[in-house]
Amino acid sequence: MIVRFTPSAVAHAVQEVVAELERSGARVWRSTESARPIVASAGGGGDDLAAALADRPEVEEVVAPPGGLRLAARAFRESPTRVRVGRGPGAVVIGGPEVPVIAGPCSVEGRDFMTEVAAAVAAGGARILRGGAFKPRTSPYSFQGFGVEGLAQLVEAGRAHGLPVCAEIMDAAHLPAFLDHDVDLLQVGARNSQNFTLLKAIAAAGRPVLLKRGLAMTLDEWLQSAEYLMAHGCDQVVLCERGIRTFETATRNTLDLTVLPVLRERTHLPVVVDPAHAVGIARFIPPLARAAVACGADGLTVEVHPRPEQARSDGPQALLPAELASLVAETRILAALTPRAGRSG
Ligand code: PEP
Ligand code: MN
Repeated sequence: MIVRFTPSAVAHAVQEVVAELERSGARVWRSTESARPIVASAGGGGDDLAAALADRPEVEEVVAPPGGLRLAARAFRESPTRVRVGRGPGAVVIGGPEVPVIAGPCSVEGRDFMTEVAAAVAAGGARILRGGAFKPRTSPYSFQGFGVEGLAQLVEAGRAHGLPVCAEIMDAAHLPAFLDHDVDLLQVGARNSQNFTLLKAIAAAGRPVLLKRGLAMTLDEWLQSAEYLMAHGCDQVVLCERGIRTFETATRNTLDLTVLPVLRERTHLPVVVDPAHAVGIARFIPPLARAAVACGADGLTVEVHPRPEQARSDGPQALLPAELASLVAETRILAALTPRAGRSG
C-alpha cells in the first residue's frame, strides 16, 4: 500500500505509521518527496491495517496502485521524477522541461569513428552520446561489439565533446567495467528487461538506468521491472518505449505511443521513445519522433551513422548527421508547443 499523509503531518505521526507497518511484517520505504510525507509498504498487514491507517487524521489517503506497484507508482511521488545523467555542467536532465535527444551509433565501431560521430552528435544538438559495446545480436555470427575497448572509446569520445554517455549492459559481470569507465547511463535492452538478476545487480550501482520495454512486454510487466530496480536501490529510472512485436511485418516493430499518456497516469518516471528500433527504417523515424514528442515523451533516442551502408549493425535505421540535426531542431519546437503538465521550471 501507499500511505499519503497530509502536507502538514508531523514527523512523529509519520514514524508511528511506519512503525505500525513494520510491526505487521511489512517492508517500508519513504518517498524523497518534499511536498508531503509518503510511505510505501510491501508485505505485512492487509485491508484491515489499510483501513485503520486511513482513519488517522494525519493520513490523507491509503492507495493500492494498479498492478501492485509501489515505488514506481504515480502515488509515491507528488511531482514527476527528474533523472540527472552525467555530472557537473554537462549533466542532462530527463523528465524536466527540456526534451533531450540521445544519439549515437548502434555499435561503437572504433576510436576515430566514435570521435567523428560524437562531433556530429554534439553539433546536431543531441545531449547524450549512445553506443553499444556489448551487442545483443540475434545471430551468434553477427558483430558482437568491441566489449570493454568499445566502452573506453565511447566514454573518451563523449568526454571530449562534453556529452554524457549511454551504453547497454547485458551481463552483471560487466558492471565493474561500466563503472570503471564511468558510463553515465546504463541501458537495459529489450532482450534483458526481465532479466531480474541483472536488474537487481545494476540497481545497487547508483547509476541512472534506461530501461527498454521488452519485445512482448505488457505495460504492467515493464513497470514491474522498473519496480525491481527501485526496490533494489535505484530511483533514477527512465523508461524507454522501443516498439513491440505485433502481427505487422512492414516495419521492424510497432511503435506503441499508447503507453505515453497511460504511463503518465501510472508512474512518476520519465519516458523516452526510441523510434529507430521500433520502425527500423531511417526515413520513417522523423514523423514518429515528432508524434512521440507531441504525445509527451520526455526524450528521444535515435541512431546516427555518417555512412549507414557501412554500419556494423542497424545501418537501415541510422540517421545521417544532418538528419539528426533536423530532428533535434523539430523536437525543440514541438516540445515548446506541447503541454507538459507539472514540468515547468
Ligand atoms: C540498441 O539500443 O542498440 C538495442 C539493441 O536496442 P533494443 O534493446 O531496444 O533492441
Ligand atoms: Mn541498434
